[in-house]
Amino acid sequence: MSIHYDYAMLGGGASALMLAYSMMQESSLSQKKVLIIEPQLKNQNDRTWCYWHDSETPFDHLAQQKWKKLAFKAPNFEAVLDIAPLHYYMLRGIDFYNFVQDKLAKSGHVTWIQGRAESTEELENGIKITLQGGASYMADFAFDSRLSLKILRQEKKSICLLQHFKGFLVHTPTPSFDKDCPTIFDFNISQEGEVRFVYTLPLSSERALVEYTIFSDNLLPDKKLYDDALETYLRKNLGLLHYEIEEEEAGVIPMSNHLFERRVGKRLLRIGLAGGLAKASTGYAFMRCVRDAEAITKSLVNHSHPFVIAPASTRFRLYDSTILNLMQTNGGKIRDHFTDLFSKNPTARLLRFLDDQTSFAEDISIMSSVPIHTFAGSMGKMIVSQYG
Ligand SMILES: Cc1cc2nc3c(=O)[nH]c(=O)nc-3n(C[C@H](O)[C@H](O)[C@H](O)COP(=O)(O)OP(=O)(O)OC[C@H]3O[C@@H](n4cnc5c(N)ncnc54)[C@H](O)[C@@H]3O)c2cc1C
Repeated sequence: MSIHYDYAMLGGGASALMLAYSMMQESSLSQKKVLIIEPQLKNQNDRTWCYWHDSETPFDHLAQQKWKKLAFKAPNFEAVLDIAPLHYYMLRGIDFYNFVQDKLAKSGHVTWIQGRAESTEELENGIKITLQGGASYMADFAFDSRLSLKILRQEKKSICLLQHFKGFLVHTPTPSFDKDCPTIFDFNISQEGEVRFVYTLPLSSERALVEYTIFSDNLLPDKKLYDDALETYLRKNLGLLHYEIEEEEAGVIPMSNHLFERRVGKRLLRIGLAGGLAKASTGYAFMRCVRDAEAITKSLVNHSHPFVIAPASTRFRLYDSTILNLMQTNGGKIRDHFTDLFSKNPTARLLRFLDDQTSFAEDISIMSSVPIHTFAGSMGKMIVSQYG
């Protein structure tokens, strides 16, 4: 007879691994049997995470870099910004996967299955998960991080932009970067009526991850265009004529104000991007998944089920919708609004705003630093579509 698991993870990426790791830290959950179903081996450096906070996460010690200041660059404003008391972290996907996989393996209670979960069915005594190929498993609760971008984009009531990017990890023969200061936004590139910027994460004075990023409705028609844009930026903006590309990174993150349904029935919770954990107006998700894993674990400990978690904030959802609407209707102007925001506000406050952590009074002060008619008009429209 097959094992009945306590918890099953459909997908073994960031959010599932954070959750499994968080559970293992709790004595009352550490003996629970966990199943992780994941098609990939997760043995590649498939992404680099940046995130900020002023406390700590269980993964900070894995970070390759930790900075206390950030550079912002745009045609009318350029500055190195102190972000105290926050720190900005850079964490390689492979270091995170290796660390968590190792800890989970040592716990002796986690089973990995390389495969694709196809369907779930709620039964009297648990949730049945069926894989492609027909194998099935039972668990008390399932956590689903599978995301269908196609289905999300078919949802006509919400906005769904794409954050698409391509990065080169470059190595230069001579010192070319300030290793103590990453550039979070460089808007000194052609906007093409969209939101386009480059960020640079230096690992040393000779090595940096440089990523060309676009927020827009559609991907560029040809992958080569991302490479061309990056090469032009390295040459013209950074003045780099000679460099070696050590690694490449590319990705697409949905930026959507869709109201994600998290709880499905009595036994399934959506987590990660599939649960709407990516911040709609920025695509940042790492810290939100860390906090979510802690909240779910707390709910399991205190209530023996995972559903006592805070719903998404209505206030910040409205701000996100407003910003998304501005990006969609007048993307080319966003760099001016970002310039206003970064030149007129303490950077730590702004970063906390972008992480849903500010008070209403702080929000008002931040919003009053951009032209009020722009923001108010868009917010009015979004209030009607959100509550109308
Ligand atoms: C390249 C890249 C860079 C990013 N950088 C940042 C950043 O700097 N900061 C930040 O905050 N956020 C960043 N993000 C956004 C977000 O943090 C990541 O996408 C993060 O991995 C989200 O976690 P997740 O668990 O939702 O998704 P994933 O980590 O993608 O995990 C989902 C897993 O589900 C698996 N899966 C898919 N289909 C099935 C199936 N049928 N059955 C079983 N498993 C399945 C996939 O293989 C995948 O491993 C980045 C995203 C990408 C793609």
